[in-house]
Amino acid sequence: MLQSDIAIIGSGMAGYFLAQQLRELNDTAKITVITANDGRFYPKPMLSTALYHKKTPDTITTATAEEMSAKYGIEVITHAQVSQVLTKDHLIQCNDKTVQYKKLVFATGSKAIMIPGVVPVSGFLSVNSMEDYEQLLSQLDDNKRILIIGSGLVGVEFAHDLLAAGYDVSMVSQVPNALLGLVPDNIGDLCRDHLISMGLNWIEDRGVRGVCKKRDQVVVQFSDREDAEYDLVLSAVGITPNTELAKQTNLEVNKGIITDEFGRTSQDDVFALGDCAEIYGLNLTYVAPIKQQSQAVAKTILGQQTPIQYPAMPVVVKMPTFPLTLVPVREVEIKGQWQSVENDLEKGVISAFYDQDQLKGFALAGQATKKRNEWLQKMPPSIIT
Ligand SMILES: Cc1cc2nc3c(=O)[nH]c(=O)nc-3n(C[C@H](O)[C@H](O)[C@H](O)COP(=O)(O)OP(=O)(O)OC[C@H]3O[C@@H](n4cnc5c(N)ncnc54)[C@H](O)[C@@H]3O)c2cc1C
Repeated sequence: MLQSDIAIIGSGMAGYFLAQQLRELNDTAKITVITANDGRFYPKPMLSTALYHKKTPDTITTATAEEMSAKYGIEVITHAQVSQVLTKDHLIQCNDKTVQYKKLVFATGSKAIMIPGVVPVSGFLSVNSMEDYEQLLSQLDDNKRILIIGSGLVGVEFAHDLLAAGYDVSMVSQVPNALLGLVPDNIGDLCRDHLISMGLNWIEDRGVRGVCKKRDQVVVQFSDREDAEYDLVLSAVGITPNTELAKQTNLEVNKGIITDEFGRTSQDDVFALGDCAEIYGLNLTYVAPIKQQSQAVAKTILGQQTPIQYPAMPVVVKMPTFPLTLVPVREVEIKGQWQSVENDLEKGVISAFYDQDQLKGFALAGQATKKRNEWLQKMPPSIIT
């Protein structure tokens, strides 16, 4: 049986950021990362701009599992799906290995949401990992007709990337503008129109009802229009936290694994962070919160109780030809309204979300993205009220 002081399930940005923080604070703790995949470390956000920046999976990858292990003095167990956690005995079961831990961290991430009624066929995929991205690349070749389902952050970024690389891209959206919920309508319109100016075929439809295979084409059944054929369909309708193992371990789970302000779950010595976690009632699926979480959780695990800080955390929508930066408004706060501050595309477009007089979020487009720090300073010191 393997003995570990701190075992981390997951080798995504959350798992590895935490391992790095722990090692920075402590030279001797035995840290074990257990992961279902090959354990390579890469910045996941790069996947949706890789074509534009002429990056390949190899050049996106920062380090292999072996390199992470050597650099940080950690053990990385790869291709090992954790099937059971026995919290009473502090035991983890994965493949044919058993690991005994003192502290355990769930960093199990998220998975793509499946569209109800849609049974995936070959040529229909989602990208939420490097392995998914490799699948996408293996199916892309010149003059491909691609449909992207969903006009949210990931769909918009992939549309930009594929259009810039010369693909024939359509996007089906259930709403008239892009990035619904993240930006006000005027900026969502600008984003949609920019993609259309790059060649996007924008389709509005109440929802894709099904897909099937006809020869080497994917036939898409829409709600409001005739079926259409594509070479490739990329589903980008959102992600949901990976919580199956947590539920099986009897951790308290709502949308994500519920933790307190220190990242502690409902079971002793078990923590959670990253896309799988729900902290302060928020399931934040971005890199900036993961950085905040990993700094605090590392300290708490090593004995210095440190609450997770959530300052305003900007999100960059990665469309290099249409700069857009925003601080999203948290779901729990949707009480106020967007106000347009500047609306001139040449000078920059600025909208701010106010709840009474309190600034809760903002969106900056074009030249206005240069004012990001100025706007960040106007935000309250914490997004937790
Ligand atoms: C295309 C794309 C673009 C993005 N762009 C941005 C951006 O611009 N800015 C931004 O802030 N965020 C962005 N994000 C979101 C950001 O990348 C994620 O929030 C972050 O990478 C999540 O990291 P994670 O470690 O929590 O989860 P994941 O990366 O999902 O990692 C989960 C890990 O857990 C492992 N695992 C799960 N279950 C088990 C099990 N039972 N046993 C063993 N291992 C298990 C998996 O193998 C994996 O290693 C983007 C995401 C995508 C997909």
